[in-house]
Amino acid sequence: MTRPDYVIDKMISAKTIAARIEVLARQIATEFNGSNDLVMVGLLRGSFVFIADLVRELTLPVEVDFLEVSSYGDAMESSREIRILKDLRGEIAGRDVLVVEDIVDTGYTLAHVVRLLKTRNPARLRTIALLDKPSRREVDIRADYIGFEIPDEFVVGYGIDYAQRNRNLPYIGKVRFTGG
Ligand code: 5GP
Ligand code: MG
Repeated sequence: MTRPDYVIDKMISAKTIAARIEVLARQIATEFNGSNDLVMVGLLRGSFVFIADLVRELTLPVEVDFLEVSSYGDAMESSREIRILKDLRGEIAGRDVLVVEDIVDTGYTLAHVVRLLKTRNPARLRTIALLDKPSRREVDIRADYIGFEIPDEFVVGYGIDYAQRNRNLPYIGKVRFTGG
């Protein structure tokens, strides 16, 4: 696969992300105070850095599980349906669940995941997204916890890729195509 030339402009620094995660972790700890059965469900692959930092700011007892769904892109555009590529390892019935997503864009992914997990009857089901692009929304959904609202830019870093690269950047950057 060829990638066009691009540069990455820093948008949100590692320090700013870390500070925001401390605040979010406190809010989550408040809501789930007393819960002894919280499962954090990271959506692969983009949320792996975020969930790693988030769980380490939480003093609650938590379990970590992962779910990977296909993005609806290309072939599946018409249905906007998603498929499970990797299901949870554990049961969530009767348990508290926090779905951890990297970005909410059109909202289809999070809406499908929430609908799917609700069929498994969790006690509480909440969602957190590091980034939110409200201007792109096509489905009426909003994460319960949001790190940063951003404009309609294509971003990478902090777990988020462009053609599988740049997940290892410690900050969030926006991709600027330079042509050529
Ligand atoms: P949605 O279903 O809300 O349209 O899409 C959510 C998914 O689209 C995100 O989890 C992410 O994988 C992908 N996505 C949305 N915006 C961006 C972006 O700016 N950069 C990257 N790399 N992926 C994005
Ligand atoms: Mg994602």
